[in-house]
Amino acid sequence: MTGDCKSVYPRSVQRLGQTTVAMVRTPQGKKLFLSSPLEGFDGERGGSGGMWAPLTPQNARALARWFPWLVPNRQPSGVAGFGFGDRLGLATPGHVAALEEARLFPVLAQQSERENTRTGRGFAQVLADAIFGAFQEGYRAGFGADADHLKTLEAAGEAALCGFRMFTCDPSEHIVPVEDMAPGEVAERYKALSKPPRWEKDYLNRDFSIEGLGVMRFTEEQLVLACVKYAGALSFAAHMFGRLREQVPGGFDFELSVDESAWPTTPHEHLFLALEWRRLEVGITSFAPRFPGVMEKGLDWQGDLAAFRSHLRAHCAIATAFGPYRISLHSGSDKFSLYPLFAELDPGLWHVKTAGVSYLTGLGVLARREPEFFREILGLAAERFYEDRQAYQISSELPQVEELKALSSNLEGVLFHPSWRQALHVTYGSVLQSPLGADLRRLLGCHEEEYRQALQSELGRHLQALGLRV
Ligand SMILES: [Zn+2]
Repeated sequence: MTGDCKSVYPRSVQRLGQTTVAMVRTPQGKKLFLSSPLEGFDGERGGSGGMWAPLTPQNARALARWFPWLVPNRQPSGVAGFGFGDRLGLATPGHVAALEEARLFPVLAQQSERENTRTGRGFAQVLADAIFGAFQEGYRAGFGADADHLKTLEAAGEAALCGFRMFTCDPSEHIVPVEDMAPGEVAERYKALSKPPRWEKDYLNRDFSIEGLGVMRFTEEQLVLACVKYAGALSFAAHMFGRLREQVPGGFDFELSVDESAWPTTPHEHLFLALEWRRLEVGITSFAPRFPGVMEKGLDWQGDLAAFRSHLRAHCAIATAFGPYRISLHSGSDKFSLYPLFAELDPGLWHVKTAGVSYLTGLGVLARREPEFFREILGLAAERFYEDRQAYQISSELPQVEELKALSSNLEGVLFHPSWRQALHVTYGSVLQSPLGADLRRLLGCHEEEYRQALQSELGRHLQALGLRV
């Protein structure tokens, strides 16, 4: 497709009675063309009675009203869930291309409050971009929309209004770091908590028989620690769940994520949480524990694989006994050493979320096609790395600019150099909100087909390693 004249995306063309609707690339950017106006769309009238509708959230909602397969769904049971986070709003066509011959439920709109702040986007635009991408590709097999890492009731409410149907509650600000406390302080806090009558009796004097895991019992210490650590988090989650139940009467998926905790989530902590959200009537559909080992952005996982497998299996066994709900792996980009452990499980038991890989794949295209511009991004990433890494678990040191000289004949190689890769991974917000952001989107738009194919290949590699695609 050329940039100086109008061209239609052939897979997008749909007919509604006498009206044809299609995605068209114009010199002013992509637009929807409607051969005659339809209710709900807003745009400019064209010469032959048609309408040119810009890619706004309002027009995305109208599109989904007329083409109901573009309305986000809940996750079906029996298949794996996979989150395709897209920080640029340009990646959905490539994500859809990667789905070919894959068996999974794709979450095509997935973004966290933190990502929204860093990219300057909102839930409405994130969902709109996924809807337009799916429409462009003629994709009709259904997808999810996950408002990720929600730390406030307001953000959950906003995402619900926009049409999201999966809500990932992040109660980390309400988790008490008992691991860093003296036993006396934990005991004091435990005394101060209000607990239901019979609660200790029910939890302390029972055998919890979990298929595949055996019998679990709480010691008093395990119960006290779990209770102090999670009481506030549970009440926050119950509050968010209750609000969403009022706001989304048709039902929704609700994930609890504690993956950014400092310490791995033990099977006893998970059992405690499962018992409590059952008591509190919080309908969990997935749980993201903190796994053992080092889970860093942009790099493969590091640690003891046998320990990871044993935690994963224990979490899945508890989730099956108390749900069933899924076990969710966050920061799932590039974790190739872990994927075989998921591939050996029933796919209906798990969900994997990615985001950074789609951004980095876009940078790979720019490294090949726009080397001078890519160098500017590298410069900004080096400048912003220490500041931007603070919200993440990152061990890399500041990348050495001198290293670039050695890599200058193969700029793409910079993306596979661990510290540069992490620097590029965590500085996306600074890049996108700087004057470079608009150019990045524009230039990637010029290499749209190459970006689509690169994503198809890279995400396809992820799906294949997870056993979801042949
Ligand atoms: Zn997470």
